[in-house]
Amino acid sequence: VRRLPLPQTKRHEQRNPKPTKDKRKKMTIVVGSHIWVENPVWIDGEVLNIKGDDAEIQTSDGSKVVAKLSKIYPKDTETPPDGVDDMTKLSYLHEPGVLHNLATRYEINEIYTYTGNILIAINPFQSLSHLYDADMMERYNGVPYGELRPHVFAIADAAYREMIKEGKGNSILVSGESGAGKTETTKMLMRYLAYLGGNAAAEGRTVEQKVLESNPVLEAFGNAKTVRNNNSSRFGKFVEIQFDKCGRISGAAIRTYLLERSRVCQISDSERNYHCFYLLCAAPPQVDSSIFYFSASAILHLGNIDFANGGDNDSSVLKNDESLFHLQMTAELLMCNPRALEDALCKRVMVTPEEIIKKSLDPHGATVSRDGLAKTIYSRLFDWLVDKINFSIGQDPNSKCLIGVLDIYGFESFKTNSFEQFCINYTNEKLQQHFNKHVFKTLQEEYTKEEIDWSYIEFVDNKDVLDLIEQKKGGIIALLDEACMFPKSTHETFSTKLYQTFKDHKRFIKPKLTRSDFTIVHYAGEVQYQSDQFLDKNKDYIVPEHRDLLSASTCSFVAGLFPPLTEEVAKSSKFSSISSRFKLQLQQLMEILNSTEPHYIRCIKPNNVLKPAVFENDNVMQQLRSGGVLEAVRIKCAGYPTYRSFSEFLSRFRVLAPEVLKMDCPENEACEKILVKMGLRGYQIGKTKVFLRAGQMAELDAKRILL
Ligand code: ATP
Ligand code: MG
Repeated sequence: VRRLPLPQTKRHEQRNPKPTKDKRKKMTIVVGSHIWVENPVWIDGEVLNIKGDDAEIQTSDGSKVVAKLSKIYPKDTETPPDGVDDMTKLSYLHEPGVLHNLATRYEINEIYTYTGNILIAINPFQSLSHLYDADMMERYNGVPYGELRPHVFAIADAAYREMIKEGKGNSILVSGESGAGKTETTKMLMRYLAYLGGNAAAEGRTVEQKVLESNPVLEAFGNAKTVRNNNSSRFGKFVEIQFDKCGRISGAAIRTYLLERSRVCQISDSERNYHCFYLLCAAPPQVDSSIFYFSASAILHLGNIDFANGGDNDSSVLKNDESLFHLQMTAELLMCNPRALEDALCKRVMVTPEEIIKKSLDPHGATVSRDGLAKTIYSRLFDWLVDKINFSIGQDPNSKCLIGVLDIYGFESFKTNSFEQFCINYTNEKLQQHFNKHVFKTLQEEYTKEEIDWSYIEFVDNKDVLDLIEQKKGGIIALLDEACMFPKSTHETFSTKLYQTFKDHKRFIKPKLTRSDFTIVHYAGEVQYQSDQFLDKNKDYIVPEHRDLLSASTCSFVAGLFPPLTEEVAKSSKFSSISSRFKLQLQQLMEILNSTEPHYIRCIKPNNVLKPAVFENDNVMQQLRSGGVLEAVRIKCAGYPTYRSFSEFLSRFRVLAPEVLKMDCPENEACEKILVKMGLRGYQIGKTKVFLRAGQMAELDAKRILL
């Protein structure tokens, strides 16, 4: 627990002593209370009887259950039947309340809900085209946030207006698990921004058109069908849209993160390779003969080259004529010498002090070499593509205003988690920290505006996990790099080092019954990582034989992807690691984000069957948790989760003290009199609203029931 160094306001401190731990929980539920109980899913009901810690409940589906008082939550009977469009309007901000509100709305296709300034977007898994048509764009144009129904357009509009008004960059962070709808949401945001900042009068293809047109190209090369999503982005993306001083789009830059290279050669059942390979195979030969596409079909042929034992056990040869054919095709398309290609795949050059020897690889080694080459070519191709798109869209060096849109993979926790999940979850920890700080800051602003004291709100952040991962000296990444540089290291020695170093770290666990796994206690839950491929996957290394082969290609495009190393780089023994490079990229991204005003969209995947109208409670709950929505709720709860204007408060609770209303006193005093009469402490009276601590609303409601 870290406390932000906050100023103390003496006046308020005296009036509102630091609240003691909430001992009143039991009093918030009484006989007659409407409540939520988990049985096994959340269901509402009414308390019939209370004995000690147990409550007997009549549930709304007609059964009777007994549950511990600590496990049931009050239900707000005054919430409208269709739910509320902003979760902060809920009287009780707890899990079942939040879940019920989202489910109710999803049922009537209200897929968007606010939680203050966070937009929750639940994937409808069906086309709701009326939500995104030209009329709708017009409707949201320039309308203040919160006046219309929650929508992605409202977020984009708010970002745009704020950018114009304050002259400050804005960013929209879209997150969620695979298949939750991040990329679709991002496309909608970009369409709306293109509508606001477009230049209809311009001749030729406009910048905004080019930005929108880059999507299908990036998706063809960076998306693939997976078990979770038929069009899953296998890379992270940050699009920075630049605006001129009139608010028109004047340039854009796309940055990508961590393309999944392994997919090029390793695909599990029912998944597919990148879309482009299927598009290529389906296209008639005359459609496109660009050199760029040649490289991609070269990869296809490369994948079909197989190896067999070359007589002795330690060498390999092409398996058959078919492999020979594919080798020749690959060489032809990459415009390199087939003999040299075969050598590059099957042999390694060893430099010893005495001589240079060519060592043969066994068939397994040759296959690994082949896959390495394919991955290298593909990732270079992808980077080339992104550069080309950026060049074609053009940058505006004079732009002072930008809106960044981030579409990046959400938190992942699978049965087996490797280096990729480690990097992804590290990203999410970083974003979560950013998010927490922002939520906290907005709360402070709100409280300051109302002139209430917020000095004792505790701020729990995830700095300790981030330190564990990224600390320069002795963090997991640093230890991993160290292991990669030391030739004798194995994943086991690496894990042993982790166990020793983080023996007492709160966020690190050595799981029982494994020799090399390790568990990190992330903000969204524990994840157990299998370390066996960490070292290999972290090495950002092109085999010199591959580099030499390709930089000698007579095709300038291919050779251009692999510029020969400058003497300086070749000499420097500096090891380049994927995780360190990614850490740097993330730092740069965070710097941009920190200089902007953020807006958050949390995409939620309501079910794993990818079907409309199915809302799986547990699944959604888990995502709200890992998406930090509950974290935001928790931060709010640490302060004053419920607030009501004086008049709203009086109309709800006047029955508790009718005599007060007869007195002719100002509204704020009337509110305070009711609160004092009810014996509540720790609440605050702001300039226009009453701010209640967690549970106090329920307590007052319980008192109404008892009347
Ligand atoms: P990944 O992390 O795998 O890239 P994602 O979060 O980007 O996943 P999307 O590709 O955006 O997920 O969405 C998955 C699918 O869900 C889409 O192909 C589309 O069918 C559907 N979908 C998402 N959002 C919407 C929407 N607003 N309206 C209609 N369908 C949607
Ligand atoms: Mg996506």
